[in-house]
Amino acid sequence: YNHRLERTEKLKIISDLAASVAHEVRNPLQVTRGFLQLLAGKSEEKNKPYFDLATNELDRASAIITDFLTFAKPEMDTIVILDLAEELKKIEAMMSPLAAMHGTVLAFSSESDLLFEGNSSKLKQAFINMIKNSFEATGMNGRIDVSAFREKDEIVVRIQDDGEGMEEDQVAKLGTPFFSTKAKGTGLGLMVTFRIIEVMKGTIAFHSVKSQGTEVTIRFPLVARRAEQAPPEEEDGNRQA
Ligand code: ADP
Ligand code: MG
Repeated sequence: YNHRLERTEKLKIISDLAASVAHEVRNPLQVTRGFLQLLAGKSEEKNKPYFDLATNELDRASAIITDFLTFAKPEMDTIVILDLAEELKKIEAMMSPLAAMHGTVLAFSSESDLLFEGNSSKLKQAFINMIKNSFEATGMNGRIDVSAFREKDEIVVRIQDDGEGMEEDQVAKLGTPFFSTKAKGTGLGLMVTFRIIEVMKGTIAFHSVKSQGTEVTIRFPLVARRAEQAPPEEEDGNRQA
């Protein structure tokens, strides 16, 4: 036997394990939450604060899973050629119901054929983290615009919101683990997002004005054309090492 595993192999095992634990843990959390609410409805008024506390803590556990692990899947380290326009359509379909619930206008516009090298699940995770932040910054009647276009040899994606915005010192802290200004925040969303974009050889920049809104600009190197069906060589897609 060879009991020695390469470091990247070990990392892959750990991330696969983390992903499946996330999926397995989420369900019992939701079931427990449901029963807690049921019991809260039947219990004495004086016990309400305890039920609220317990429910909040369960929500926090779910939020950590969402921000950190949700779209992590076994195939997550596979890097293929993606069309950002197509990916944004999928993200739009996932986020639109949430937008409707929030009373937020979420508008997508994209040029077609924006090819780049990436991983679809991870990309979704990154964009959902950022768009969720915009939702949380806008509250009711907000507006979020997601646009994508080509600029020289890059793909540019812009997420603009008219939410609460940030001070400069706040912008400087973005991506720091556990930095959050929200009561129920995890402060993990952007840390993970930055890492995902970095792995896809992209860049991310924030421009924000307090009380006016925030603009996130993400850039990926444009891939000229789709390689003839041949799966792109798996050139050490996970560079965590
Ligand atoms: P969380 O959402 O759990 O707080 P994140 O890492 O996603 O953690 O975000 C960290 C912090 O960055 C937020 O708490 C918020 O203060 C700030 N932030 C991120 N995106 C925006 C945005 N679009 N508008 C205003 N503030 C933002
Ligand atoms: Mg967040």
